[in-house]
Amino acid sequence: MSVFAANSFRNHEQISFHQDRDSGLSAIIAIHNTALGPALGGCRYWSYDNEADALDDVLRLSRGMTYKAALAGLSFGGGKAVIIAPKNTTPHEAKSPDLLKAFGRFVYSLNGRYITAEDVGTCPADMEVVHRVTPHVAGISDGGAGDGDPSPATAYGVFQGLRSAVRAKMGRDDLQGVHVAVQGLGHVGGYLAKYLADAGAKLTVADLDTERLAWAKDELAAEVVEAEAIYDVAADVFAPNAMGAILNDQTIPRLKVGVVAGSANNQLAEDRHGAALADHGILYAPDYVINAGGIINISHEGRAYDRDEAMAHCARIGDTLLEIFHRAGVEQRPTNEVADQMAEERIATHSTADEERRLSTVNA
Ligand code: NAD
Repeated sequence: MSVFAANSFRNHEQISFHQDRDSGLSAIIAIHNTALGPALGGCRYWSYDNEADALDDVLRLSRGMTYKAALAGLSFGGGKAVIIAPKNTTPHEAKSPDLLKAFGRFVYSLNGRYITAEDVGTCPADMEVVHRVTPHVAGISDGGAGDGDPSPATAYGVFQGLRSAVRAKMGRDDLQGVHVAVQGLGHVGGYLAKYLADAGAKLTVADLDTERLAWAKDELAAEVVEAEAIYDVAADVFAPNAMGAILNDQTIPRLKVGVVAGSANNQLAEDRHGAALADHGILYAPDYVINAGGIINISHEGRAYDRDEAMAHCARIGDTLLEIFHRAGVEQRPTNEVADQMAEERIATHSTADEERRLSTVNA
């Protein structure tokens, strides 16, 4: 398995591999960029087919975190951790405290350059265990000073971003009667669907979990379709809140919507699918911009946590998206490309200022 020549390697600062035989931990932490601050990013617990897939995932996700933090205006860099779960484990299977503590010691060994949090396959309770051996953990309830679960904040940010996309595409400020096809009603999708229903949107939903579907039907008057049929729903907006890579050569031609705006990470199977969406006349809200509410909320954690302030910050995702949509329109470029460039500009500006400060200290 090559590392520097791996598909997703993009100038990462540091990649660390760790094994703890006693607890069975095999984990990788990737720090992509720390120009704006310590690398923040969740810890994924996943049963990968092979180690190369795990490496690819952590490299891709950590880079996404750098861009996400940069465009959310946060003083964090991008990092991510993956714990390679034994074959055939389900993501939500209980992990032993020994394994989580071994992971915590691994995080601690990086001296605060990487701050971990929950992600797919881990939960705030797991992070409480990790926190017993390292202070470098975010997204835990922290005795009431923080907020714990980031999902409601993520959903609120997606809701505000979706409103901006509707404004840009349809020229309207409200969601009354706007038809949204929602894929996934989990931690984020459930809250998002509630926000949308409360705003008067018409919902068509899909999930694999029949209880979530029954809830949406009964509580939100949503129409339910089979999971695979959600791509064919003629609606104003498609909101993906389940898996990644759902915008690809097979699905994009099927979409009958004007906007794609949802929480899922890595929605584009490949970068070129951003252009494919634009060619189909679909306005795409770049995933790492619209789903930054959780990390924004985390950045507000601490003793003086103020929920209203944190939510107001999440709402600014809508303004960032309007800027991206405007620039994409003027420059006639796909929104994902414009977002990447805006993030790189912010990092470059900061890195130059930082280097000048460092050199002036060295030369003083
Ligand atoms: P979750 O596991 O709670 O929910 C996912 C839901 O999608 C589940 O209800 C699941 O049954 C459903 N699902 C799975 N496959 C499906 C399919 N083929 N069709 C329809 N539904 C399907 O996850 P979550 O925390 O709600 O996160 C959703 C997405 O948002 C993920 O991609 C995650 O990486 C991303 N995200 C989450 C957060 C957060 O704060 N939780 C932050 C940023 C990004």
